[in-house]
Amino acid sequence: MSVRFLVGAAVLVAAAVILAYAWSPRRHDGGVRAGPPPPVPCTVTVSDPAGGLATVRLELDAGMLGGRREIVLAFADAPAGPAGLRSFVAEVDGVAVTPASEPYRGALLQRIPLAAGARRLVVTYTVNPTFYPPGSDVTQPADARGRIGADLAVVRSTSLLPLFDVPGSRLAVEFDLPPGWVTVAPWPPDGMRLLAPADGSAPVEYLAFGPFETRDFTVGDATVRVARLGAFEQSAFPVEAVLAREIELVGAPLKRAGLFVATLVPDDFMHGGAAGERTIVQSSAPQVLAHEVFHWWNDGTLTAGDAGWFREGLTEYYGIKVAREANAWTADAETACLADLNGEMRMIEQGGPRSLVDASLDPRLGRLVYSKGALFWLLVDRKARSNGRFLEEAVRRVVTSDRRGLSTAEIRTLFSSVYDGLFDQEFDRYVTGAEPLPDLETGPATGRSGCARDLPPLPR
Ligand SMILES: [Zn+2]
Repeated sequence: MSVRFLVGAAVLVAAAVILAYAWSPRRHDGGVRAGPPPPVPCTVTVSDPAGGLATVRLELDAGMLGGRREIVLAFADAPAGPAGLRSFVAEVDGVAVTPASEPYRGALLQRIPLAAGARRLVVTYTVNPTFYPPGSDVTQPADARGRIGADLAVVRSTSLLPLFDVPGSRLAVEFDLPPGWVTVAPWPPDGMRLLAPADGSAPVEYLAFGPFETRDFTVGDATVRVARLGAFEQSAFPVEAVLAREIELVGAPLKRAGLFVATLVPDDFMHGGAAGERTIVQSSAPQVLAHEVFHWWNDGTLTAGDAGWFREGLTEYYGIKVAREANAWTADAETACLADLNGEMRMIEQGGPRSLVDASLDPRLGRLVYSKGALFWLLVDRKARSNGRFLEEAVRRVVTSDRRGLSTAEIRTLFSSVYDGLFDQEFDRYVTGAEPLPDLETGPATGRSGCARDLPPLPR
């Protein structure tokens, strides 16, 4: 059987990849600047959406260039797309200069030389911001987590815009879109523009463009903007109910104040969903919505690469649990989903069971992180309850912490201390060990729940 090892029905594209640029600014100091530089004016034009391209123009003045002999623009996703940058023209004080292109940790760096006393740099480029997560089937447009289509677009900020090696950099972005299209983004307005963070610590966000309708609601110090095409039907996209239940479960408000954005796209535009630091985008499936919302706590920066089973497995489990608890779907749908995840896990492990750490580190085992990961947490949740405890006791402490890059070993230690070793055996057998999970009595799989991508529909 050919198994498509797609990254998942509900992909979190890690927001942390861009944090670690080894910038080498090579700054020949012309004076110490106080505070962040002024925002860089930026225009994004999408004039022919069916063509799938955007044109971007940036104007950097002496406030950004002052004293430098080089400025580096990093395109975090550029080489990942099928075409990436189509053209790139840089002019310093009206004179064309040739940037040095350099791949760096999955990003593309454009090093632009600056003459002494350079006052103005204008950069224009055309980009195809299509983005497929590693391991996905690039012949399936709906498996992309970013693309410009004829009727709407979803684009990762890091596929469209550069980051600069200047601390505190921001872009003041103006969007020139087809008639009737609006921009849905988590960035604060600055006049007619939006202010986007653009230094090496800027997170990935998912931007949406199209004829979207939006409405806002507040949760504590945060505002959540919900966007969808056409009129709202509350029941079809129950963001408030899902968010309320998750806040109750984690016992904490959203991690940050300010604007968050949840965008619903048609099911044939994107299969599954994706989450940035303040943005989620997904198809209409309730468990995908609940999954992506949970990533606002269990985000890409919280855990290390070996803990994908916590980042995605736990989020998958809470997506399923919360979708039902928020009455966004039925108990039968939950049962069918768990049965399919079990079927998918057993199918992937036909060639031998794998540890959740192994699965987290091997892109070909991406789906096991979701299926075995979610079922591991089902097992732990059941054992907690039968011992008069709650999974949330430890989950709250992890997902509301400010920690970054938590490893499997650190998570195990935390669980061991919270529950006095109650789950040590489960961690040893399934997380670091490669034992198959016991029979979880999930019932027969159908392959039709929409939860297990690699499990084909089974005969009725
Ligand atoms: Zn996810």
